[in-house]
Amino acid sequence: MSHRKAVGIDLGTTFSAVAHLDAYGKPQIIPNAESERITPSVILFDGANVIVGTHAKNNSVVEPEKIVDFVKREIGKPKEQFHREFGGKIYSAEELSALIVKKLIMDAERYLNEPVTDAVITVPAYFNDAERTATITAGQLAGLNVLQIINEPTAAALAYGLDKLDHDQTVFVFDLGGGTFDVTIMRIENQKLHIIATNGDHRLGGKDWDDVIVNYVAEEFDHAHDENPLLDLQSYQDLQTRGVAAKLQLSRRIHTAIVHNHHGKSVKVEVSRKDFEKRTRHLAEKCKTICEIVMQEAKMKWDKIDKILLVGGMTRMPMVREMISQLSSAPLVSDVNPDEAVAVGAAIQATLSMLREEEITGEKVLGENTREQFSCRDGRLIQVTDITSHTLGVVLWDESNLEEYVFPMIKKRTAIPASAKNSFGTASANMQHALVKVVEGESSLPGECTPLGVCDIELPPFLPKGSPVELTYRYNANQVLEVAVEACGSQSKVSIERNTGLAPNEIGKAISSLEKLSVE
Ligand code: AMP
Repeated sequence: MSHRKAVGIDLGTTFSAVAHLDAYGKPQIIPNAESERITPSVILFDGANVIVGTHAKNNSVVEPEKIVDFVKREIGKPKEQFHREFGGKIYSAEELSALIVKKLIMDAERYLNEPVTDAVITVPAYFNDAERTATITAGQLAGLNVLQIINEPTAAALAYGLDKLDHDQTVFVFDLGGGTFDVTIMRIENQKLHIIATNGDHRLGGKDWDDVIVNYVAEEFDHAHDENPLLDLQSYQDLQTRGVAAKLQLSRRIHTAIVHNHHGKSVKVEVSRKDFEKRTRHLAEKCKTICEIVMQEAKMKWDKIDKILLVGGMTRMPMVREMISQLSSAPLVSDVNPDEAVAVGAAIQATLSMLREEEITGEKVLGENTREQFSCRDGRLIQVTDITSHTLGVVLWDESNLEEYVFPMIKKRTAIPASAKNSFGTASANMQHALVKVVEGESSLPGECTPLGVCDIELPPFLPKGSPVELTYRYNANQVLEVAVEACGSQSKVSIERNTGLAPNEIGKAISSLEKLSVE
């Protein structure tokens, strides 16, 4: 039996965390080499050395040009759209994310005193196909076997629900992190966990609140000294740090003051919690609207919610809790640590994935007691059913209106893994190729959906118009799509040519180039 050790990774916008199951089957956060339970997702390039975490974050003010942060907001973009260059080498978002994963794994291996081979990595529920694929790539580039990608709120729900499977209940998971916002409704029934609905905004998070303070202080500085302090990168980073600190203070106190020095000039700006809440009301309102939308999607009234599970550091903020209390009178549960719940849930899922693999291969990797711990009363493994976050469609030609439209193949909120099969007629006689354009999104207009890629299929010769082409979409547990096409008896599984991220043949090259870097 080859040695395997799995962990759960919360690869966050501002912070990342890693967890595992200890010898007693209890999920535990693994502290990093600096003895911290969460690691800032910040990278510092210092020659051939790469430093990830607090040291990098502390340096962001001193050497902002050597720093990469918020890379999660860029993942899934092709290199032409996003890259950073250090020491003459160009890094994609996947490679930069891989460096964060490497640091987490290295520290975990040191702490556990054994190699880490496998991982479940979490992503916001709202991540699309490209962002998920790129996250898998990031894990692979760090040398891991990525068992599965799971949604952050599902992971948090799993961390919360694992020991509550005996109580049927409906839980509303509110996850407001550093850069993303996710809401999920989960039902625990008959010892099974089902995700009922999920929605979110992956450009809404703590950073937006920080920016409000930063811009406010910058304006005051500009008024006083006729100079915008944000134009200087170092001053910007400095103010950013002060802004976050002020935000954290305002969660505990009703008043704070920010002093900012730049070019020998300074301002002192007084901010009350009330004033800050007024300036950021629109952000809380955005969260509220998304909560209401997800309830509509679940066709549910607020009185059906038994508990509200708070995840993500931003849920410590009084205005966020107040806003939720206005929506629902259900108790707010924070018995999961908002910073740690996602990584813990990922570690649980990693164990479930390995137990399921054992069932398939017959090869035992984990102890019998672990299997018992993760089984229901009937002896079967605990079941977690997630749903699709987007509709996946195919672009077709509408002959009567002479325009393209999107035909939905797998609709949003379908339980995964999911598959769908549909037959379409060829648009003209003797068509030699069928171009399957795969899109993701809720609109019937191709222009309003996200293109995922195309499959170019060669057709047999001399087909009459309207000949059947059968299309199958398979959405796996990672919410990554596979497409198969059957045209007049000839079957082909087509790989989607994704116009994003690293291509599979580039991955090997990227692994060896990252291996040359020393990460600490
Ligand atoms: P996460 O991505 O879940 O780690 O969330 C981190 C975000 O939560 C960052 O924007 C932090 O500034 C914010 N945060 C953490 N603790 C607090 C707090 N006590 N009050 C307000 N915001 C917080």
